[in-house]
Amino acid sequence: MRDTAFGRFICESVFPFQILYLRTITIGRRSTRRSTSDSSKILISMTTYDQIADLERRYLLPTYNRYPVVFERGKGVFLYDLEGKKYLDFVSGIGVNALGYAHPRIVKTIRDQAAKLIHISNLYYHEYQGPLAEKLASLSGLQRVFFSNSGTEAIEGSIKLARLAAHRIGGPEKSRFIGLEGSYHGRTFGALSLTGQEKHRRGFEPLLEDVTFVPRNNIEALCAAVNENTCAIVLEPIFGEGGIFECSVEFLRECRALADQHKAALIFDEIQCGLGRTGTIFAYQAFGVTPDIVAIAKPIAAGVPLGAFIAKEELATAISPGQHGTTFGGGPLACRVALEYLTILEEENLLSNVSTVGGYLNQQLKQLVDDYAAAKEVRGRGFIQGIDLDIPSRPIVEQGLAQGVLFNSTHDTVVRFLPPFLLQEQHVDKGIRVLRKFLGRKRRRAA
Ligand code: PMP
Repeated sequence: MRDTAFGRFICESVFPFQILYLRTITIGRRSTRRSTSDSSKILISMTTYDQIADLERRYLLPTYNRYPVVFERGKGVFLYDLEGKKYLDFVSGIGVNALGYAHPRIVKTIRDQAAKLIHISNLYYHEYQGPLAEKLASLSGLQRVFFSNSGTEAIEGSIKLARLAAHRIGGPEKSRFIGLEGSYHGRTFGALSLTGQEKHRRGFEPLLEDVTFVPRNNIEALCAAVNENTCAIVLEPIFGEGGIFECSVEFLRECRALADQHKAALIFDEIQCGLGRTGTIFAYQAFGVTPDIVAIAKPIAAGVPLGAFIAKEELATAISPGQHGTTFGGGPLACRVALEYLTILEEENLLSNVSTVGGYLNQQLKQLVDDYAAAKEVRGRGFIQGIDLDIPSRPIVEQGLAQGVLFNSTHDTVVRFLPPFLLQEQHVDKGIRVLRKFLGRKRRRAA
């Protein structure tokens, strides 16, 4: 190890620290992990939970409230922490790891492409952006794609395009957005302005002022809010961060009709619910309502950061070179992995697995509602589901972690399920067995 520059850095700069640290680990909460690799020995003694958490506490902006575990690797639907403890994953890195961990085809694609070209910028062509855009266009029924790095940037680009298109028709007055109460669209100022949750907005005002929020599925409020100055209606067909609530088909149809009537864009945020999670590639395909723009991200490149929005041709003609762009978005590595992701979905028949095992998960969760007083309602479909409790959900997630099962808590009382698409019924059974331990008192049955 000392022979390499990295080895010298580690040995010279970290070694004195290591000696100090080796003393502390004997009283530390966790022991060091074991490994057979010589070259990683020095790093091993550095990488315990306490030390990692302490370093982050000292140097990171305090934006995250992490659970007390350090993950080192994963395989299929399982993750492993530094000590080798195995965890069944119902979270997929918040909907990103749809192919689970270390999928051999993704690993091979990344290795191969990393050795050729990771990044080239949007100054030049590469082989993969065009084919990926073509594939996304054909899957979505829309025509033109812009690639970003994240979900929030996909939303940002969508609303910028909607503004350009609206101004072309109605001038600067036609600039108002309609969003939904309880929605989540991301953390940039534009996306945050459309996010209908006070807890995310508080402290950041003033946000975009041209947003009117209406309650989800309230057609009367929607009709009252949309007018000739509306530039776009933006919504998640299934709320993710907002607690897994679905928009009704009637509501979505009304959004479509009003957008058409007032020449506004209908924008669906499928960053969480899209790309297979509901059992169809896009959630809107099951609802039978097609948007003018759809924003996607999370699983598209199997964990390599990539987002996109796909727009109708009429809208796309409103933008010209130089009006929007990104340095990283749509690079060769991310786009090639995304093509592989979409091919794997098809070849491994994963959408049908999502539907079948998602149906089974739904039944099992509903059984919990029948059995336990604390379990109120099951919402969602496929592999985006939530069980709403009348107790806080975070303690349940902490207890699950101790038992080797990862759940996710959202909206204070909802345990959310966003598992990898590889999940099988026996994994559902294991998760449900663990949940049963923490739901408390059984419902009284009528005699
Ligand atoms: N929209 C939705 C529906 C999301 O779930 C998220 C992420 N949770 C975002 C937007 C923002 O995406 P990102 O975190 O990749 O910026």
